Amino acid sequence: MEANGSSVPMKTGFIVPARVNRETKPDGTIVSVKGTELGGKGIVIIAGPCAVESSEQLFETARSVKANGAKILRGGAFKPRSSPYNFQGLGEEGLKLLREISMETGQSIVTEVMDTRQFELVSEYTDILQIGSRNMQNYPLLKEAGMSRKPVLLKRGMMATIEEFLLAAEYILNQGNDQIILCERGIRTFETSTRNTLDLSAVPMLKQLTHLPVIVDPSHGCGLRWMVPSMAKAAIAAGADGLIMEVHYKPETALCDGQQSLSLDEFSLLMTELKRIAVAVDRVIL
Ligand code: PEP
Ligand code: MN
Repeated sequence: MEANGSSVPMKTGFIVPARVNRETKPDGTIVSVKGTELGGKGIVIIAGPCAVESSEQLFETARSVKANGAKILRGGAFKPRSSPYNFQGLGEEGLKLLREISMETGQSIVTEVMDTRQFELVSEYTDILQIGSRNMQNYPLLKEAGMSRKPVLLKRGMMATIEEFLLAAEYILNQGNDQIILCERGIRTFETSTRNTLDLSAVPMLKQLTHLPVIVDPSHGCGLRWMVPSMAKAAIAAGADGLIMEVHYKPETALCDGQQSLSLDEFSLLMTELKRIAVAVDRVIL
C-alpha cells in the first residue's frame, strides 16, 4: 500500500485513502460511545430534535425516544441555518439542557460543532462531536476533531463525492482519532421533489471501501416526514450501522426542520418496524 493512499481502484483515478481503507482493518472499526458500540452487529438509533429549543421540548422528546429505543440523543445547540434570520440555536444553554436530560435518561449526546473556536465548549458537554454537511471540507475543524479523543460523527457534504468524503475522514484519522462515524445525509442532484437525494448506494460502497461505521440520516436525506420511515428501513436493509433521525414532540411548531421531523408516535411505530428489518438482515437494534 502506498503511503498517500492505496488502491482499491473503483474507476480510473479513484483512490481510497490509506488510513480509512478497509484493507488496513478488515474487521472494521468499532466506535464505542459510553459502552454503545457502532460498527458491530448491533444497529444504533440516534434520535432527537433538529435543534434544542426549550427544556420542555427537549426533555419530552428525549424521554420518549429513549423509551422507544434511541440509545443516543441528537439536538443542535449551534445550528448552521441557510438564512441568518432563522433560529440559530440556543448555544451553551442548549448544551446545558442536553447534558441535563442525558443525565436523567442515560443517553449519550451528539451535537454539532460548527467552528474551531467552539471546540472546547462543545467538547465539554457532548459525547460525540458532529461535523455537519456544510463543514465536511472545513480542514481546520477536521484536524481539531482528529486531535480530540471523542468520537466524531462526520456527515457527507451535500456536494461531496465518496472520494472527498473519505478524504475528509482521512484528515481526522491522520491526527490520531479513529473513532469516526460516517453519515450519508443526502446529496444535491437535479431532483427537486425531495430536499436532497438520499444516496443509499453510498452505504454498501462505503462499507466496502472503509472500515469505519456508516449510518444514514433519512430526515435530511429526503426532507419529508412521511418518507422517513421508508428510507430508514431501506437504510437498515442496505447495511447501515445506525440511523440518525429528527423527532419532535410537536413537529408543527418546530423552529427548525419540522417538516421532516417524526412525531413521537411515528417514531415509536417506526422502531417496531425497524426491529423486524434488522432481524431480516441478521442484525439487531441495540
Ligand atoms: C443536522 O443534523 O443537524 C444537520 C444540520 O444536518 P446536515 O449537516 O446534514 O445538514
Ligand atoms: Mn435538521
